[in-house]
Amino acid sequence: MRPDFPLPDTDWEPTREYWAAAARGELAVPRCDSCGAYAWYPRETCEACGQSSFTWTMMSGRGRLFAWTIVHHAFLPQFSDAVPYVPGLVALDEDPAVRIVTRIVDCEPERLTFDLPVRVVFRPLSFPGIDRTVTAPFFTPDAQ
Ligand SMILES: [Zn+2]
Repeated sequence: MRPDFPLPDTDWEPTREYWAAAARGELAVPRCDSCGAYAWYPRETCEACGQSSFTWTMMSGRGRLFAWTIVHHAFLPQFSDAVPYVPGLVALDEDPAVRIVTRIVDCEPERLTFDLPVRVVFRPLSFPGIDRTVTAPFFTPDAQ
């Protein structure tokens, strides 16, 4: 286990650019250079056309709430300061098949609904006892 667990491993090659973009305040997803399909989670070959060349592409950061839960009790001690929090899956507007694992923030959790419009916000992910933080894409209800 990495010493900074549960921070994400921002050096892991398949998702390194995702975290680098987040650090710049951008949401990026790999897009196939041949057919334009988004590839999320990052993969070696395009599921649509079989090619294997991708370019990280900036997304609008808008999407819809696809699934979520409200965590009241931390199963890992590192999360005890964070409860209650709302892990969720957000389907991006550019392609609802691209679903980002994230947290829903700045919301009243009991008022969340399926398909709710949300937009990305960038927040430092931090855990007690770990000096480093990682800027992560979270989502918040979009007032439109
Ligand atoms: Zn393709």
